[in-house]
Amino acid sequence: GCGICTNRCPFNAVSIINLPEALDEPIHRYGQNMFELFGLPNIKEGSVVGILGPNGIGKSTIIRILSGELKPNLGNYDEETSWEEIIDYFKGSQLQSYFKKLSNGDIKVVHKPQMVDLLPKVVKGKVRTLLEGVDERGAMDETLDTLEIRSIMDRDISKLSGGELQRVAIAAAVLREADFYYFDEPTSWLDVKQRLNAVKIIRSLADAGKSVMVIEHDLAVLDAISDYVHLLYGQPGGYGVVSQMRGVRVGINAYLHGFLREENIRIRKQPIVFDVKPPAQEIEAEVLAEYSTIKKSYEGFSLEAEAGQVQHDEIITAFGPNGIGKTTFAKILAKVTKPDSGKISKKIKIAYKPQYLASDFDGTVQELLITSAPNYGTNIFKTEIVKPFSLDDIMDKDVGDLSGGELQRLSIAITLSMDAEVYLFDEPTAFLDVEQRLRAAKAIRRAVESRNAASIIVDHDIVFIDYISDRAMVFYGEPGVEGHASKPMDLRSAMNSFLSDVGITFRRDKETKRPRVNKFGSYLDREQKEKGEYYYLE
Ligand code: ADP
Ligand code: ADP
Ligand code: MG
Ligand code: MG
Repeated sequence: GCGICTNRCPFNAVSIINLPEALDEPIHRYGQNMFELFGLPNIKEGSVVGILGPNGIGKSTIIRILSGELKPNLGNYDEETSWEEIIDYFKGSQLQSYFKKLSNGDIKVVHKPQMVDLLPKVVKGKVRTLLEGVDERGAMDETLDTLEIRSIMDRDISKLSGGELQRVAIAAAVLREADFYYFDEPTSWLDVKQRLNAVKIIRSLADAGKSVMVIEHDLAVLDAISDYVHLLYGQPGGYGVVSQMRGVRVGINAYLHGFLREENIRIRKQPIVFDVKPPAQEIEAEVLAEYSTIKKSYEGFSLEAEAGQVQHDEIITAFGPNGIGKTTFAKILAKVTKPDSGKISKKIKIAYKPQYLASDFDGTVQELLITSAPNYGTNIFKTEIVKPFSLDDIMDKDVGDLSGGELQRLSIAITLSMDAEVYLFDEPTAFLDVEQRLRAAKAIRRAVESRNAASIIVDHDIVFIDYISDRAMVFYGEPGVEGHASKPMDLRSAMNSFLSDVGITFRRDKETKRPRVNKFGSYLDREQKEKGEYYYLE
C-alpha cells in the first residue's frame, strides 16, 4: 500500500505521493466513519463529461448531488447544511451559480439512474404511456428508432428484460426537456450495437447544446460518448477524489497508464497494455476438444452453431447481438440444455458461470467458498482467486446482500477455482468496473495457462474482448428469431465480420493500442469500410 490508507488498497497503489488539498474538506460525508467525497466534476454546456472510476468511489453520489436528489453536507453529517453555506462553499467556481439555480428550482435536471431494474417498481403501465407522457422535446421518432423501442411500445414495463428496461429508461431521459442530463451507467445489459446507439442518442443532447454527464465502465463507450473525463480515485467505500478534467483520449490513456501526472497520483503499479495480434494466423496448437454442428430450436427461435474446436491454453470470446443464442450455446456446452443435434468429441470437464446469477445461498461468502471452492484455504487460492477478485472485502457479507458487482466477482472466482478443462463465462464483465474487468481477464488468463485448459467467454465489452481474446466466434442472424454462430477464428476476422454487420469501424489508439470507435462518416470510417477492414488498418 501507499501508506495513507489503513485498509487494503484495491488499486495496489505503490504511492499516493501527495495528498490533494481537496482532502481537507469533503463535499459530502454520509456519516461518521462513512464514505467521503472530495471535489465535484465540471459541467460543460454542449459537451458530454464522462466519469471513470472504480465501484464504490462515489460516482453515483456525484450524480445524486448534481441532480438535486442528495443535498451535499460539506462533511457536517450531524446537522442540516443550508443552501447558503453550500453556495458560499463553491464561491468563485461555476458550481456556485449551479447550486444557486438548482436550489431555487431554476434549472431542470434529468437523471437516468444506475439501477434500471428498479424502474418497474416506480412506473406502472405500458412503455407507450410512459414515453408519450415525457415527450417534451419532440424527439420521439428519432429516439424510438435509434434505441429500437418500437416493437416493445405496447409491452407492460413489468414484463421488460434488463436490456429493454435500460433502453426505455434512456429514452425517457432523452425525451424530456432539461438543461442538464445525467446518465448513470447507461449501457449495462446492452449489446455492442445498442451501446453505440445509446452513445449516438445521448451525444445528440450535447449537440443540441445541453450539458450531459455520463458514468460508464465500458471504455470504448466512454471514449465514444465523452468530450472530457474526470477520473475518480481514492479508496472505494472509504473516500473518493475527483481528478481534474482531461480530454477524453488523454484521460483514458492516463487511467490505463496508471499514473495521473498532473495530480502526481499513482493508481496502479503497472500500465495496462494492449497487444495487436498478428492477423489470420493459424497456430498449430493442441486440440482440447471438438464439437460438431450444434442445433437447437425453441418455439419461435432456432440456433445453429458451426462445428469447431477448442485448443489448449486459449481464450475464445463470443459476441453478437442480444437474443441471438449466445446463452443457449453456452448452456449446451455446459450441459444445462440438451441440443436437438450435435455433440462434443469427448467428455470434458466444464466450469460454467451463467449470465444471470442467483444468490439463494443462505450464509456468508466465506461459508459459500468453503463448500464450493475445492482449493479454498490454499496459498494458490489466496493469490490467484482471493486477491484478484478482492474477496477479502466481502468475506463476511451474506451472499444474499451482495451487490451485482460483488456477486459477479464471487461467481467468476468460484468458477475459476474449479478443476476444469474449459472455463465458460457468460457475460462476466456485467456490473464490474474497468479495473475489475481487467483483473478478471488476467486471472482467467493465468488459470487457463497454468492448467493447460481453455476458456470461452461471452461478452459485449470490446476493450475487454480485445484485451483477452486469442480467438473469437461471432453470432449473427435475426435476434429472437434465428441465430448462427461461426466457428472460432482469429479475432480480427471475427471482429471484421461482426462490425461489418453492425456498420461500425474501430481504430487503435496510437499510444495505448486500445480500440477506439471511429466517428461515423469520418475519413477513417469511410476508408476502412471501403477496404473491408472494420476493426483496424495495419
Ligand atoms: P459508485 O457509484 O462509484 O459505485 P456510490 O456513489 O454509489 O459509488 O457510493 C460510494 C460509497 O458511498 C459506497 O461505499 C457506498 O456504500 C456509500 N454510500 C452510498 N450511498 C450511501 C448512503 N445513502 N448512506 C451511506 N453510505 C452510502
Ligand atoms: P443471447 O444470450 O444471445 O441474448 P439467448 O440464447 O438467451 O440469447 O436467447 C436466444 C433466443 O432464444 C431468445 O429469443 C430467447 O427468448 C429464446 N430462448 C432462450 N431460452 C429459451 C427457452 N428455454 N425457451 C424458449 N425460448 C428460449
Ligand atoms: Mg454507481
Ligand atoms: Mg445471453
